Amino acid sequence: MALPIDQFKKLIAHSKEYGFIFQSSEVYDGLSAVYDYGPYGVELKNNIKEYWWRSMVQMHDNIVGIDAAIFMHPKTWKASGHVDAFNDPLIDNKDSKKRYRADVLIEEYMDKLEAKIQKEVDKAAKRFGEKFDEAVFRSTNDRVLRYQEEHGRIRERLAQAMTGGDLAELKQIIEDLEIADPESGSRNWTDVRQFNLMFSTQLGNIAGEDGKLYLRPETAQGIFVNFLNVQKTTRQKIPFGIAQIGKAFRNEITARQFIFRMREFEQMEMQFFIRPGDQKKWYEHWKEARMKWHLALGTPAGKLRFHDHDNLAHYADAAVDIQFEFPFGFKELEGIHSRTDFDLGAHQELSGKKLQYFDPELQENYVPYVVETSIGCDRMFLAMMSEALVEEEVPGSGNTREVLKLHPALAPIKCAILPLKRNEGRLVGLANDIFNDLRLSFQVQYDDTGSIGKLYRRQDAIGTPFCVTVDFESLDGHTVTLRDRDTLEQERVPVARLEEIIRKRVDMKHLLI
Ligand code: ATP
Repeated sequence: MALPIDQFKKLIAHSKEYGFIFQSSEVYDGLSAVYDYGPYGVELKNNIKEYWWRSMVQMHDNIVGIDAAIFMHPKTWKASGHVDAFNDPLIDNKDSKKRYRADVLIEEYMDKLEAKIQKEVDKAAKRFGEKFDEAVFRSTNDRVLRYQEEHGRIRERLAQAMTGGDLAELKQIIEDLEIADPESGSRNWTDVRQFNLMFSTQLGNIAGEDGKLYLRPETAQGIFVNFLNVQKTTRQKIPFGIAQIGKAFRNEITARQFIFRMREFEQMEMQFFIRPGDQKKWYEHWKEARMKWHLALGTPAGKLRFHDHDNLAHYADAAVDIQFEFPFGFKELEGIHSRTDFDLGAHQELSGKKLQYFDPELQENYVPYVVETSIGCDRMFLAMMSEALVEEEVPGSGNTREVLKLHPALAPIKCAILPLKRNEGRLVGLANDIFNDLRLSFQVQYDDTGSIGKLYRRQDAIGTPFCVTVDFESLDGHTVTLRDRDTLEQERVPVARLEEIIRKRVDMKHLLI
């Protein structure tokens, strides 16, 4: 069973207590929406990145990787449209002095309507039991229909206002819906203004506007400006892709919900360069491929869904999100965007340099079209943690345990080696031998700092799929007990077979097939 919404705080506390995520600069009371990854967090995050990289780059002949710099020539952001259009609509509450995204306030109102609908459905399901037909109920119940109708009306108004950049209309929607400041309850709002999300800094040797640099708000542009460098040096033919993992920075207005919305975060992006006209085919291809990537991890299908964009970004002719059901509802985890030739075309125009591809089959030059897949590494981390953290009863013991049921290939530590007694020289010696042998293959941990029950609990809490216990029987027979995190089964296995048994479960290659 996944985490219910009221346990989101527990997940945040768990992440800190077990060394996954710390607030940045905590000794100075923290920096809002900036986080540090601890010893187990960095392992999990690296495993997520490795899974993405291997499935995108290693498993595709026609996708290669790069690692571009965070700083780029300032004209990059002019061409890409970020200087003029990478804005969020901002609204201040005059009483509380709190700042919000106008569209998010409206979306949260819509979320509440959805929750009300769900409540009606749940109530009816309980009342009617097995006879309950959800589809019929949703299409006939008066109250549900009223909520749905209101939801649809707001959704349409919001999409129109966002697409047209109509700030006065956004304010009007907030007033019509009587939306209050979630913290203070005040409805005393300022007008809505545009707020650019890019952080800027200054080059050391150039004063004024000319030396103004931006911290990249997406990794994609580093790929676009390198398109020809990569194509020529790797002799790739269209269709081909360029992948990159790296930091991105956005001065988010509403930076809440833990690592869901951060000001410094990491993206895993792939730009797939195609023939103009082929975008629909490749858009569908990558939608399916990316959903498969998520499902391979064992995430239940009901927790993932596609969500078409209501208002397209300035660069896109089609866009869809893969949403995940976070503890606070279905939200964007990944975006798949058909970006047309917008970016390459814009860089070509502003730089005056040709960014075209000569297609040997068609015998013609063109600016390629692009389909992009873009996923936030931190959001993926949060999705995996919230899906994995479970509190359950230990069968037959009357006790409960907190266990992180992460996919074994993602787990920070693959196996813990635990001697039954810490002061028993021979046990400790054998346990250390096993540890030193297994560490050549996996991230493993040796621990003799408590009773075996306590050590198991600790490994459960960090998601370690296997625990090896070294006991007195081990000394003569050279066998150990291998405990499975999920089934709690304990099996006696020869020390010589440990590596092979563990590898079978934790090897990432099973995810790539
Ligand atoms: P949102 O609508 O939630 O602000 P977005 O549509 O602006 O997201 P994209 O520009 O499509 O996001 O970025 C691609 C991916 O990068 C997102 O799907 C998300 O996983 C991640 N991402 C974007 N902004 C942030 C952020 N502030 N913190 C963490 N991850 C982010």
